Amino acid sequence: MAVNQLMQRLGGDARVELLRAIRESDVSPYFRVMESATAPVVRVEGADKIMLGSNNYLGLADHPGLKQGAQQALDRFGCAVTGSRLLNGTLDLHIELEAEIADWHGTDGAIVFTTGYQTNLGTISAIVGKGDVIVVDAAAHASIRDGSALSGATVRKFRHNDVEHLESVLAEPVEGGGAVLVVVDGLYSMEGDFAPLDAMSQVCERYGAALMVDEAHSLGLFGPKRTGVAELLGVAGTTDIRMASLSKGPSSTGGFIAGSHDLLDTLRVHARGFLFTTSGVPAAIGGALAAIRIIRSEEGEQLARRAVANATTLRDGLVASGLDIGVQSPMPDGTQAASPIVALHVGDDLKAIALWRKLFDRGVFTSAALHPAVPRSGALLRLCVMATHTDAQLRTAIDVISQTVDEMAE
Ligand code: PMP
Repeated sequence: MAVNQLMQRLGGDARVELLRAIRESDVSPYFRVMESATAPVVRVEGADKIMLGSNNYLGLADHPGLKQGAQQALDRFGCAVTGSRLLNGTLDLHIELEAEIADWHGTDGAIVFTTGYQTNLGTISAIVGKGDVIVVDAAAHASIRDGSALSGATVRKFRHNDVEHLESVLAEPVEGGGAVLVVVDGLYSMEGDFAPLDAMSQVCERYGAALMVDEAHSLGLFGPKRTGVAELLGVAGTTDIRMASLSKGPSSTGGFIAGSHDLLDTLRVHARGFLFTTSGVPAAIGGALAAIRIIRSEEGEQLARRAVANATTLRDGLVASGLDIGVQSPMPDGTQAASPIVALHVGDDLKAIALWRKLFDRGVFTSAALHPAVPRSGALLRLCVMATHTDAQLRTAIDVISQTVDEMAE
């Protein structure tokens, strides 16, 4: 291999060094090898673990209906489409899936991308540009921030979930009279808190700003039709751009935008993350379609209810043990929302890694979120429930987590 400045620099990067140090001492929470399907209990490197580290909120990843949808698509269309949606990569299944999503969301239409990341990157960079302003929540997902940077628009941040700060940022003048787009997550993936979309939507309307909401973690769970937090908070109709990933609640792979004809046709010809990538594998599209049909059914309603009940069990159990758990989000009716994501605050990165490893050894798989995924000294273990976790599994996990945290504090 050639010796040159760039290749030498890569080995000295601080984050690379940390990865190597934790890998060598075998405490790394990352790249662990899964040996069975994503389910409440997963075989990981030779042992069974209670899985609290997946986004399989509805427990659909190994559902027979999804497997059948994926299998039928695989049988009919083979392994891959080997082309972009624009050219040979649009299957009749995509059309069916987009029609299903549009009907579900009550929008003019929908457009399906290969991943959620590409959906945000492609959409944001296609619809705004130089002279426009994007206003993003400081905790918005990386794909929103990356899409904003790529767009060439001026990016302004507001403090996480702070509606007054959002308003003061929107009050700043836009040189040259460009358009303003506000982009937020509906449910934040680290802390598990909800965006106050009702108040945000009003502020956007007052300042003539468009609103885009990423429902990656809320799709399938919240609102009467289970399209997400915008629906739960009664602002689905005033949300201009409704985005979600198909890889979490629906347990497939892909992402979509639901919205107006003008928006969708713009994306069809301008979204580079849509045009210049191969469309999703047929099995993912078939699986997603089956998932959405289940989510919209009576079974989906029960799964969503079960996920929320499990979230409450996990949260209440950890709070009763005196653990430092993320904040809950107030709902307009005065109740507290139950989020499928429960953040266990640890603070120090190394302490979080040590706790992660102890829990792993004791049969509980969690996700460690370290800086820069969270603010400095804000390390946390992200715990997520599935609708299919049993009460006994959650009780075991609560006991293991609280005992381990207590031991480490001694
Ligand atoms: N938005 C949010 C809020 C996410 O958490 C994620 C995935 N972590 C994405 C978008 C990207 O979705 P996908 O995994 O489908 O690429």
